[in-house]
This record gives sequence, structure tokens and C-alpha cells, in this order.
Amino acid sequence: MLDINQFLQNREDRVVYQNSLISKYNLPLLTVRTNYPGENKNEIIANNISDIISHEIELLFEGKIIYRELIHKLEGKIHIFIINDTPKNIKFQTMYLEETHILGRCVDIDVYDCNGNGISRQEFGKGKRKCMLCDDLAFVCGRTLKHSHNEIKEYINQKYIEFKNYELKAEQLSSLLSDIALEGMIYEVSSFPSFGLVSPLSNGSHNDMNFFTFLDSSFVLKNGFKEMAKIIYSALPLDIAFKKLRIIGQQTEEQMFKTTNNVNTHKGMIFLLGIAISCTARAIFEKKEFHDIQSIIQEMTKDILKDFDKIDTSKPLTHGEKLFLEHGFTGIRGEIQNGLEVVFKGSLPIFNKTLAQTNNFNLTAVQTLIFLMSKVMDSTIVYRHDFETLHEVKTQMENIFNDGGIFIENSTEFFNRLEKEYIGRRISPGGSADLLAITIFFYKVHKIFDNLKVKF
Ligand SMILES: [Zn+2]
Repeated sequence: MLDINQFLQNREDRVVYQNSLISKYNLPLLTVRTNYPGENKNEIIANNISDIISHEIELLFEGKIIYRELIHKLEGKIHIFIINDTPKNIKFQTMYLEETHILGRCVDIDVYDCNGNGISRQEFGKGKRKCMLCDDLAFVCGRTLKHSHNEIKEYINQKYIEFKNYELKAEQLSSLLSDIALEGMIYEVSSFPSFGLVSPLSNGSHNDMNFFTFLDSSFVLKNGFKEMAKIIYSALPLDIAFKKLRIIGQQTEEQMFKTTNNVNTHKGMIFLLGIAISCTARAIFEKKEFHDIQSIIQEMTKDILKDFDKIDTSKPLTHGEKLFLEHGFTGIRGEIQNGLEVVFKGSLPIFNKTLAQTNNFNLTAVQTLIFLMSKVMDSTIVYRHDFETLHEVKTQMENIFNDGGIFIENSTEFFNRLEKEYIGRRISPGGSADLLAITIFFYKVHKIFDNLKVKF
């Protein structure tokens, strides 16, 4: 009896304390607790579930969490958050979480407005919550003691195991995809001649980096890509996932600059390959087809051109920002917004066809690079030179591609000559190089996509 009294006292104290937090911050409050039966809520699994869901809350409301606290008494672990958002929006997101997360039905996520009133599902036209185990309403089953404690605990344990299996899959898949991303980057920088890019044979039009700078940088990026894939192999809403990806992207960029002594080897690549790897992970999570990756990219990045509305001219501008302000040039963001059409409808089919014809990765990469250089509005070329040079390069590469590219007679001598000319003029098609790496990534993903869907 003492325990029950103590338990009830804990709960009462908590409600008083929560109200004091609401008054102090004058903001909505959210609590996460596991819906565990019986007087002893301090089971390891119940507490772990509370931690897992509160981690999801951190992801959902990143940047908006003003205060958080863990209360760990007889009620089990209860996570409290003060969130700088409207109560309605908070409730909306948490209902989505309860509905989509494997452990969603095992927890109660309560949201209170600034007056301490709970926000109910009914305000969104939804009925009361259903029971974990049957189709009846949860409160009815609770009141009538329809299910035994053991039955409920068994359900929660099973869901927990299901979640642990999912976590393992997320770890394995993201590890595998980031390996393929690494392969894409290494294959790209290893191919030659590459018309002013860095390769094992030449530093191209660069004097601050060489092949090994690229190797160092590629390996350091792998972890960031893995983290991105892992985050999005989930039901996290795409707009929120994209924000999170960009934060990981910035951290990855910092690691790159640290490794290369402030040389920009892969900034564009982090952005592009980050989007490619995450939308691939999402397609697999949702059991979609390979060609659906394109529409996932479009959906996730639908607001990407709004980046340009937020340019802060008091800070140092990126290449992309300068080109947009001066010329309305949307660069890589434009390519992304159309779902990387130039890859899926252009370079990828060409890569496949050329590889089948030649059975030679290097020649295939060169042919694909020529195609990309003929199509892409390459911001590296524009930034280092101007639009005239870009136009000239595009036209030249288009002619070469139409004449057969690598299949032109004596193409090796011709390309070597051309490479020397580009290096002499300091031209570097960095944007096309990034898209070549993306093409190789998708070539490799496509080959195993159906197996991935079965396994993950
Ligand atoms: Zn029930």
C-alpha cells in the first residue's frame, strides 16, 4: 500500500511541477512516458522505450526545445520538454509519431498549452486512442481490465524487439549505402583523363589539392553519409528529415575542411550525395521502387530554391549564392529540384550502355563525364571563369559526345590534348564531377536494389 501511495504522490507532485514549468516559460509542455501496466513501471524495457521516443522528440523539434528534464521515480522514466512551437503543431507531430513509430502505441505523449490544459486528439477530428492490443478504445479496455498485465507486457516486449531489429537493419543498411557512396567518390576521382579535374595522373587545374587529398576527404565523409542514411531510414517527416540532413551536412563539411587543411574538395558532393543516399534509404524503408527515388528527392527538396530568399549578404557568400544574386543562376539546387533528371534520364542510362559496350569502368566514366559536361550548368566553371566559358565547354563536349565520345578514332590522344588545354586555361568541371560520382552511386545501388528491398 505504501508503494501505491508513494506512486500517486509522485504523480501529483509531477503535475504540480509541470504546471510551474509552464508558468515559468510560458510555453507548451510535452511529456513522454511508457504505457506500462502495474505499479512497478521501472522495468528496463519500459524505461528504454521512454528514452527512445524522447530521442524522436528531439529530432522532431530540434532547435525548438527550450528546456528538458528527466524525472525518474516510481512512475518510470518520464521525459519533459518545453517547446517553442504552437501546442497544435506539437500535438500534430506527436500524433504522427504515435501512429508511425514501431513503439508509438506503447507510449503516451501528452501536450499541454500555456494554461496547462491538455491538447486532445479530438481537436484534430480524431477519435480517442485505440487499445494497443485490440480494436476497442484504450480507456475502455483499461477500465474493464480486458487484458491482463502479462498480456500487455508481452505486447510491449515484442514491439521492443521489433524496434531493436529495425535499429540493426538501419545500422547495416546505412553502413552499406555509405560504402557505395565512398565507391562513387573514389571511382570518380580515379578516372582519367578528366578535363581539368584531379585524377591519379594529374592535379588537373588545381594547385591546392591532389589525388590523395581526395582520398583523405572521401574517407572522412563516409561517416556523415552513414548518419544521413540512418536518420531517414524511418518515418520521420521528409521536411524535418531534410533539415536534419543539412545539419549533418554542415558537420561533415567541417570535418572535410579539417582533413584537407581548408581546401574545398567535396562541398558540392556532400550536398548531392547526401540527398542521393538519404532518398535511397527512404525508398527502401518505404518498400518503393528504384525509380521512385527521383520523386522522393523532389518531395524532400521542394522548397530548396527558397534558400536564395534567405541569403545574408553581411556574411561571406558561397559560390552558389553569389552566382544566384548576380545572375539568377540556380546551379545544383536547380538540378536537385527537378529530381536529378540529368542523372536518372541522362547520365545513368549512358553509363549502363557504355559499360555494357566496353566492359571498362574508366572509359565508361570518361564517356559519362563528357555527357554531363555537355548538359550541366556547372557552377565551378562559371565561378572560376564566366558564362561564356561554360557555354563554350558545353558546346564542345556536346559535339564530342555526338561524334561518339570515347569511340572517336584516336580519342585517347585527342582527350589528352584537350585535357592539357583545359588545365592550361584552369578550367575545372567540378559540378559535372559530382554528378558523375552520383551516377556511379546510383549505378551500383540499382544493381542490388531489389535485394536491398527484400533484406531491409
Ligand atoms: Zn483492448
